[in-house]
Amino acid sequence: MTIERIRSYLFGEWCGDKEGQTLVNPATEEVLARADGSEQDLAGALTFAREHGGSALRALTFEERADMLGKMSAALHAAREPLIDSAVANGGCTRGDAKFDVDGAISVLAAYAELGKTLGKKKILADGEGIQLGRSPRFWGQHVYLPRRGVAVLINAFNFPAWGFAEKAACALLAGMPVMTKPATATALTAWKTTEVLINANVMPKGALSFIGGSASRVTEALDSQDVLAFTGSADTAMKLRSHPNVIERSVRVNIEADSLNASVLGPDVAFDADSMQLFLRDVVRDMTQKTGQKCTAVRRIFVPQSTLKDVEGEIAARLQAIKIGNPALKDVNMGPVATASQLADVKSGIAKLREEAELISGEPGARPQTVGVDGDKGYFHSPVLLRARDGMSAKAIHTHEVFGPCATVIPYSGDAEEASAMVRKGGGGLVASVYSDDREFTEAMVLGIASHHGRLYLGSGKVLEHATGPGLVLASCVHGGPGRAGGGEELGGLRGVTHFMQRTAIQGSRPSVENISDTKPVS
Ligand code: NAP
Repeated sequence: MTIERIRSYLFGEWCGDKEGQTLVNPATEEVLARADGSEQDLAGALTFAREHGGSALRALTFEERADMLGKMSAALHAAREPLIDSAVANGGCTRGDAKFDVDGAISVLAAYAELGKTLGKKKILADGEGIQLGRSPRFWGQHVYLPRRGVAVLINAFNFPAWGFAEKAACALLAGMPVMTKPATATALTAWKTTEVLINANVMPKGALSFIGGSASRVTEALDSQDVLAFTGSADTAMKLRSHPNVIERSVRVNIEADSLNASVLGPDVAFDADSMQLFLRDVVRDMTQKTGQKCTAVRRIFVPQSTLKDVEGEIAARLQAIKIGNPALKDVNMGPVATASQLADVKSGIAKLREEAELISGEPGARPQTVGVDGDKGYFHSPVLLRARDGMSAKAIHTHEVFGPCATVIPYSGDAEEASAMVRKGGGGLVASVYSDDREFTEAMVLGIASHHGRLYLGSGKVLEHATGPGLVLASCVHGGPGRAGGGEELGGLRGVTHFMQRTAIQGSRPSVENISDTKPVS
């Protein structure tokens, strides 16, 4: 098998001849590719993107940018199979997991193409109603959004090389900002192939898309005040980037999506044979095993009332034990390996840390599980592990240490919404929490108790059994992000995600002039 060479795409051309980090198949440890190891001129590349990509994109209307996103989505759709194959090989993904990433990329671009169409032939976005500023309506104000004149630098985590790029790029490009994207190096194969497809499709102006195919540890030095840094990854890296002196000095806009100890709360009203219980069990097991638990939205803490604890633990454990682990290229395998050797080491040490505060319910912490379709002891495999907290109220690591793999902890509680809320909040801010109940009062009390700490709440009940998408699925129409530990960022959410890449300005002046400029003149 040929070893692929990942190159960067900067200054409107492919570049980077020096071999860098080696990318492997995490199921077989076979070498797949080598990243770009060149020291790239990122400051120059950013200037090129600002000058060429920025001006070309700002010259387009929202409708034209939307058309471009639609063509990008179509190009990826046409290349869907090879992209899925590369995600299976380099990401340790089952075909289902790989589709989650690749189809997610295709659909988020399509969703923003649809949204962009509704904005029409404008280049300026009005924010809210006009405001009378003086005693008469002659002196008028209107808030508007215009694209920032910099580059959207998108740094992504290893788990979603296609969707992670596309969800950020769709918003930035629709706003009118060029993007420079940098995937996590270990799983960059799919991101590189995605970029190749988009460049070959020739649907974007020159400079609108740049790609860093290796390390970019010096990119923060080259950022300017009109740039936007959108980062997804660990809290440690996030802290390094957002506290870089150049980022602080130039007030670079930064959006962070980081760790999250996502909670799932089962209400005390839910009987074992209720539909809402089926939804809860389905969601929990899917979240723990999909992408081998390497999903920022995956459930890490499962709050279960004492009344159903035994049955619930037993059922989750039974379902986890039925998961077939092995080479994800095989059809009957349900869960592949984690993405890298260092990820496996982190999972093992993280579980050991949680076990200081928890009992083991099921799984084989630290051991190699039974695998299918793998030679010897190759690959970075770990079994799903279910733990039970000894005391959820006094526990520390369980609420603060994210094991980014197939592991979650059951936290027993009395059934009281205030008690559950207090423990959920110990997570210090998360991306998503889910509440499963058919009791309106309990659900409302949970929403009031935990919404302040989350970007999204998913309310599971028997009524949505056949319709709910699960808490792990991020939708273009709803915000993704969360306060505190989760990074304090916000992405997507329809137009909300687009405006992160624009500057809001209040325009004050004579009413006809303000209305003409902002295109808000009432239709008579
Ligand atoms: P990571 O080690 O922090 O790396 C994230 C990205 O930052 C990678 O592209 C990495 O590049 C890059 N990077 C590292 N140091 C850098 C520097 N000094 N300058 C510029 N870029 C730098 O995180 P990860 O291991 O890939 O991802 C796992 C974490 O991401 C988990 O903690 C998970 O919770 C979080 N995550 C959050 C979300 C969310 O939406 N909130 C989604 C997915 C994952 P290299 O690979 O080249 O080092």
